[in-house]
Amino acid sequence: MAPADPSPFVVTDPCPVCHGRGAIDEQPCATCHGTGVHRFYHGTKAELKPGDLIEPGFSSNFGKRKQATYVYVTGTLDAATWGAELALGEGRGRIYRVEPTGPIEDDPNLTDKKFPGNPTKSYRSREPLRVSGELTDWQGHSPETLKAMKDNLERLKRLGVEAID
Ligand SMILES: [Zn+2]
Repeated sequence: MAPADPSPFVVTDPCPVCHGRGAIDEQPCATCHGTGVHRFYHGTKAELKPGDLIEPGFSSNFGKRKQATYVYVTGTLDAATWGAELALGEGRGRIYRVEPTGPIEDDPNLTDKKFPGNPTKSYRSREPLRVSGELTDWQGHSPETLKAMKDNLERLKRLGVEAID
């Protein structure tokens, strides 16, 4: 099946129980732990196969090469696409379907005032992610959009802001 709408803030594969709302009768949905996400994605440049684990510290996708304490997952194809395109390293970006093996929490880098709530469905975990498969038919952002994002990240870096891990 082709990926659903890759627009920002659209959950690609919503939880079938709560239909992506994350809540049922105002209680967090137990099936998706309140995320509304059925399947998570992880963008990277690393070559992985089903069953591989992505460990915290495996790679720091953005910014300087510090040890990452967390691994990042998202429920939107758009955010995973950014992860793949902006990842450090050589070669093409890749997007994997992943299953968190431990608790996840909102990614604070993407849940500030600019994005109230967690509309990009970006989460982080201290536990590894298990790769369940690679998504092969995704489309990258346009060269102009990608350049604008890279320029923006570069500007933030000069300002001493480590924007995104
Ligand atoms: Zn749910």
